[in-house]
Amino acid sequence: MSIATVNPTTGKILKTFEPLTDSEIETKLALADKTFKKYRKTTMAQRSRWLNNTADILEEDYCKFAKLITLEMGKPIKEAMDEIKKCALVCRFYAENASEFLKDIPVVTEANRSFIRYQPLGIILAVMPWNFPFWQVFRFAAPTLMAGNVCILKHASNVPQCALAIEIIFNSAKLPEGAFQTFLISAPQVEAVMTDKRIKAGTLTGSEPAGISFLSTAGKNIKKTVLELGGSDPFIILDSANIEAAATTAVTARMHNNGQSCIAAKRFILVKSVAERFERLLVKKFQTLKMGDPMLEEIDIGPLATPKILQDIDKQVQETVTKGAKILVGGQPDRDRVGNFYPPTILKNIPVDSPGYSDEFFGPVALLFQVADLDEAIELANSTTFGLGASGWTNNPMEQEQLVEELEAGCVFINGLVKSDPRLPFGGIKRSGYGRELGIQGIQEFVNVKTIWIK
Ligand code: NAP
Repeated sequence: MSIATVNPTTGKILKTFEPLTDSEIETKLALADKTFKKYRKTTMAQRSRWLNNTADILEEDYCKFAKLITLEMGKPIKEAMDEIKKCALVCRFYAENASEFLKDIPVVTEANRSFIRYQPLGIILAVMPWNFPFWQVFRFAAPTLMAGNVCILKHASNVPQCALAIEIIFNSAKLPEGAFQTFLISAPQVEAVMTDKRIKAGTLTGSEPAGISFLSTAGKNIKKTVLELGGSDPFIILDSANIEAAATTAVTARMHNNGQSCIAAKRFILVKSVAERFERLLVKKFQTLKMGDPMLEEIDIGPLATPKILQDIDKQVQETVTKGAKILVGGQPDRDRVGNFYPPTILKNIPVDSPGYSDEFFGPVALLFQVADLDEAIELANSTTFGLGASGWTNNPMEQEQLVEELEAGCVFINGLVKSDPRLPFGGIKRSGYGRELGIQGIQEFVNVKTIWIK
């Protein structure tokens, strides 16, 4: 796929870009390498100033950057504005806390002095997806830069203007030239870059096939990686839950970002006693959502990011319905509009042998399941290959503890929706990936944990 801005609302190609040539890549890698040698010696206080400058720029110009996001991938403009503000937040969070997170840790041994020191690794390659085109990058870059590494970004091919804008932001914040560079390259060019000796580690957020390909290149070259892959998060509602609150949150949990979020609630698992009421409420709430031009502030649902995503979700819904699922609302692409519009959809009675039971639905489709009790709910929740997030709704402390203990997921939220937060680690288990971003764990992924022993 070529590198281009294609407006998902109109289908129009707005701008195309040539991928970097091998010699352009070499020049940029050489710059990153040269910059790292000096950058690693800068103080935490200096790096904090650069990150706070970055946050200032994001906050001042958040409308401009938000428009770029919505133009390239179609999320509602109000969500794009929130995304930019959250990027500023993560810069400030690490600017303030990195020195504490990475300070020397004394350990008592028979030596006169022994301790752990965290040191940067070098150039880190980030391969990022289009769905949160700023947030995914900043949640990686803020801790990585504060740890003294330098960053190279290979962004998704449909958000090149976001990718270039992010490089400009870091340069305008006065980070040394080469500390953060965007490489406009295609997916097949990633292997050669990751293999280059000057790249010390990498992270990929995206689909399972991309993760496998990236990981095998990293493995062949013995390089550390973090993988943030797909999910099919359960949203479990039990007897004692506040059903109205659960239904209101369910709409955001499923519809945020036009349904294209790795941690979206995708499978709604309901005990019998609450199923009918929750279903009724959810249908009503889905029917009131406004779909349309995502540049308008009153719009809740914009187009899907690409025609391929629209085709994929349509195919998954049709196959699930053919196998026996029932459509409660939506269920067909909006063919009267130009652009990649798919309406809010709810399916129930999902057959075990259908895509709805096992696959990730990366669009505005809620899948409803009914179970007898908590044990059955947990069994169903854990029955997929994914393990990213999970949300459980109950006011019974014993049930809360069982959910926390038994759900196979990187994070469990009780009576709330799964969301990322700079203060808390974020990541998955099973085929949703490994490693953590954010929190103290996030900044300790790309460092040398150096043991020091002095007699
Ligand atoms: P994708 O196709 O895997 O693309 C993600 C990135 O990987 C893009 O930059 C893409 O470049 C690149 N890429 C694709 N194939 C590659 C390969 N063989 N080698 C190296 N790089 C490659 O992902 P997507 O379909 O756009 O994104 C949706 C998926 O990402 C969903 O499964 C979603 O759940 C997951 N996701 C996970 C998280 C998380 O934090 N766990 C967050 C967001 C999304 P091109 O664009 O040039 O192909």
